[in-house]
Amino acid sequence: MTAWHQKTAHEIRDAVAKREVSATEITRSYLERIETVDDKVQAYTQVWRSEALAQAEAVDRKAASGQALGPLAGVPVSLKELLCTREGETTCASKILKGFKSPYDAHVVQNLKAADAVLLGKVNMDEFAMGSSTENSSIQRTCNPWNLNCVPGGSSGGSAASVASDCAALSLGSDTGGSIRQPAALCGCVGLKPTYGRVSRFGLVAFASSLDQIGPFSKDVRDAALALNVISGRDPLDATSANLPVPDYTAALTGDMKGLTVGMPIEYFTEDLNAEMRGLIQNAVEVMKAQGAKVVDISLPHSKYSVAVYYIIATAEASANLARFDGVRYGFRHPGAQTLQEMYHLTKTEGFGTEVKRRIMLGTYVLSSGYYDAYYLKAQKVRTLIKQDFDRAFEQCDVIITPTSPTAAFEFGAKTTNPLEMYLSDVYTISTNLAAIPGISVPCGLTAAGLPAGLQILGRVFEEAAILRAAHAYEQHHGLAMGKPALA
Ligand code: GLN
Repeated sequence: MTAWHQKTAHEIRDAVAKREVSATEITRSYLERIETVDDKVQAYTQVWRSEALAQAEAVDRKAASGQALGPLAGVPVSLKELLCTREGETTCASKILKGFKSPYDAHVVQNLKAADAVLLGKVNMDEFAMGSSTENSSIQRTCNPWNLNCVPGGSSGGSAASVASDCAALSLGSDTGGSIRQPAALCGCVGLKPTYGRVSRFGLVAFASSLDQIGPFSKDVRDAALALNVISGRDPLDATSANLPVPDYTAALTGDMKGLTVGMPIEYFTEDLNAEMRGLIQNAVEVMKAQGAKVVDISLPHSKYSVAVYYIIATAEASANLARFDGVRYGFRHPGAQTLQEMYHLTKTEGFGTEVKRRIMLGTYVLSSGYYDAYYLKAQKVRTLIKQDFDRAFEQCDVIITPTSPTAAFEFGAKTTNPLEMYLSDVYTISTNLAAIPGISVPCGLTAAGLPAGLQILGRVFEEAAILRAAHAYEQHHGLAMGKPALA
């Protein structure tokens, strides 16, 4: 029999609801798995053993007394280090927040608890979600479960690695420019970035507030739909959360693509795309056609500006958001300062890592008088053009497909000396956030080196149902024998 830690969230939930297994047994299986493999993978920064077991016991008591169980009953979940939790610390993998304990739970964490999920602990990330490899963490180095010499992607690398190594059934991460979809692709799991406003950002430590969105990592598409059901919805504590009903996203999973038109952006399928990745995507297109999809070429003419626009807007917003970490209110304060000025200076100099400082300086520059119009304002205008490209494309198709990432996982250190090369890891994912639309990455095979690749599917705003349907139909019929990473 398959071990519990290898099962999907919906299999676990169903078994717990039918009382075939206790939530405690499930949780023990995961805690043991973490003990066996996480010293190699290093996804977890905190494991909440006793709290998790107490939550599981509470679910079991509820079941024993005949009460109705929540939609994630007994499902073990890991959380990215930037989601505020009453349990443990919320560090954003930064020295500046070392020791910070949040007085409240993020909205999504409250929802998980209300759904009877079990929180296993927190997982690693790039400091303040800035990066594409999780190498910018101040805590530890997380490895790709498929090849321990390679990065798991980022910034939610710990989330992806925990799910791919069967150390969590689900994980929540955040995506500002690709940080859910890219690590999901590199680790061979499903990663969903919802529409901006679909999920409350209350209790998500902000990086770039107009781009950030929380979303799930899972082993299959059904679990992504299930998790989205639980975390979506209006929250009065996030004014940008949409006041729209939450459909049952699992109801969209028909298993076929009849009547769906799939757009392929001509700008993305050029000689620049490596042949192996192109081949994998082409195979996926054939599967989609066989499932009844119609495939058309579309154009996103301004997509070539998206990385440049993103690194102006995201850094500008980050420079404002990160000003609050000054040694006075949260976490770390430099002990050696004599004056207030010196305290700010030393705290920020030692508390923030190199990449975060680079972004704060870039963002401050593009907002400064004299440069604001030339950079920030111009970037906002190009952002509108990028959004209009998608509006026009979605008049011709229902979903758009692209590779999730230009390459599979790379080795540690391969891109750390050249930040621009690292920034290009997100060339296919960044415009999604600029346009506020939803996107999902679903595994689409292994490269010759045995590393997973991801297919990205994008949809119209608030049409997560369409991308979930397409991703699920593809997943059902792709016939991939990806197997599992060869961990112990
Ligand atoms: N890799 C991108 C960056 O470094 C995106 C990060 C994210 O989505 N949080 O900013």
